[in-house]
Amino acid sequence: DSQRMGDSQGMAREALRRYCGYDSFRPGQEDLVDAILSGRDVLGVMPTGAGKSVCYQVPATILPGLTIVVSPLISLMRDQVDALNDTGIAAAYINGSQDSAAQSAVFEKASAGRLRMLYVAPERLETPRFRDFAVHHDISMVTVDEAHCISQWGQDFRSSYLGIADFIALLPHRPVVSAFTATATSRVREDIIALLRLTDPMVKVTGFDRPNLFFDVITASAKAKKAWIARYVRSHPGESGIVYCSTRRQTEEVARMLAERGVSAVAYHAGMSPQERDVSQRRFVTDEATVAVATNAFGMGIDKSNVRYVIHHNMPESLEAYYQEAGRAGRDGEPGRCTLLWNESDIVTRRRLLESGDENDRLGPDEREIVAASRRRLLDAMIGYCHTTQCLHRFIMRYFDDRDDAGGAAERDVRSCGMCVNCTSTPRTTDVTAIAVAVSRCVHDLGQRYGVGRIVAVLRGSKARDLVERGCDAVPSYGVLASVGEARIRSVVYHMVSEGLLSISPGRLPIVGFGPQAARTVDPGFHLEMSHMEPERVDAVAPS
Ligand code: ADP
Repeated sequence: DSQRMGDSQGMAREALRRYCGYDSFRPGQEDLVDAILSGRDVLGVMPTGAGKSVCYQVPATILPGLTIVVSPLISLMRDQVDALNDTGIAAAYINGSQDSAAQSAVFEKASAGRLRMLYVAPERLETPRFRDFAVHHDISMVTVDEAHCISQWGQDFRSSYLGIADFIALLPHRPVVSAFTATATSRVREDIIALLRLTDPMVKVTGFDRPNLFFDVITASAKAKKAWIARYVRSHPGESGIVYCSTRRQTEEVARMLAERGVSAVAYHAGMSPQERDVSQRRFVTDEATVAVATNAFGMGIDKSNVRYVIHHNMPESLEAYYQEAGRAGRDGEPGRCTLLWNESDIVTRRRLLESGDENDRLGPDEREIVAASRRRLLDAMIGYCHTTQCLHRFIMRYFDDRDDAGGAAERDVRSCGMCVNCTSTPRTTDVTAIAVAVSRCVHDLGQRYGVGRIVAVLRGSKARDLVERGCDAVPSYGVLASVGEARIRSVVYHMVSEGLLSISPGRLPIVGFGPQAARTVDPGFHLEMSHMEPERVDAVAPS
């Protein structure tokens, strides 16, 4: 048996060299490949760019039968398949862009054993024609790419993913099932294993640690953000960088501002024509332009290794999204810098977008609520990152639960990692104990029945009619924070949520209640600090 294991390892390395052109596997890849080749189901969790594809492409070249790859992005299938055919792996796809004759040609090729890999969207598995094909052919492996789409707790829930397990159950010989994702929360992982019905899978979470990246978080007003970007970009001439903005308008504004200062910057967003975007992309990739100012539409298929910095002009919707975008810095292993600029209004904007949830039209009301609740949780983690006083590397590793056997950052002592702002600068923390105690008191006074807005209004002593009519001005905590800015109190509330002192209920009207750690606030030794607070603006609380 160990002989056979040795053989398959040799074959895997040989396939890696022959088809991918690499001499060695990256951490985690070989374990997943070996597990697949020994017939064991796997779940591989790796950030984008870590090399998930190799983990199923290499086995696909060795396994006797066909590998079906389930992938949500029809638009990328063609590129993926072309790239595989270029390297000598016989691959094809079947999707709605082809006519019936073209589909038949692919089925024939597969039937004749002349295909190693077949890419399909999940919906395809439900069609009678595809099912008929599949039950009559030797399917060695079903690979599920972007497997988090099966979970309602992730970002991109697709109900069609729920049918994959039934499709697999239909096959006369159960193939090995391999699933891959870059989304790593334990909830999503549990869903993938349960809903794909993986059997005793090898779960490998790896590659999240990026020790060459320096992480920085800066609170700044809208004006200060632009000034900071201009200063940073100009003091790093010739270095390639990406500035992510959340809207097309901001993207164009920032690109124009940089251009006016003599920086060769290109804009990139979904409002531009495909040709315009191609031009931007090409200029950036070839180093003709040093800076790309972009919305998150940029970077999907981009493989540029010498990006030295990634600046976020706004807070993204999740730590997953942030880490994926920030992670485009330093792909070559050389130092990279990732700076997140944010302020309170980013949180407000994000919450509003989240509640509107317009792209979820296809979902029923219950599903929509579950998706909204999970997005809220993702956003809370993002806000937690902005406020934490911990090492930022460690915060990220804990979030992704990266326990690489080789000893990822989560296991190492990273008290002073030297690669994040919290570990290098004298902490710019603010003691918010008194505010936190008042907030707790107020949540108690209001019987855990109101949202953040009402709590802030009560603490600041608002005379709003609705508030007075409900008697909220009669509680002991009324007006005790009259001299503290609204934004600051809100920040403390969100920080308390991420510390588990408070919780925000799901639902259209989110209600603030106590969290699992709430008892801490009544402990005499209770103390709470926050990083990266926006300085209190005197003008914001000036008497009117
Ligand atoms: P993912 O699917 O996880 O986003 P990819 O599979 O596209 O990542 O791989 C990202 C990049 O890393 C690609 O350019 C790929 O060729 C490269 N890569 C993957 N595995 C290795 C390896 N073992 N050695 C060197 N480069 C690799």
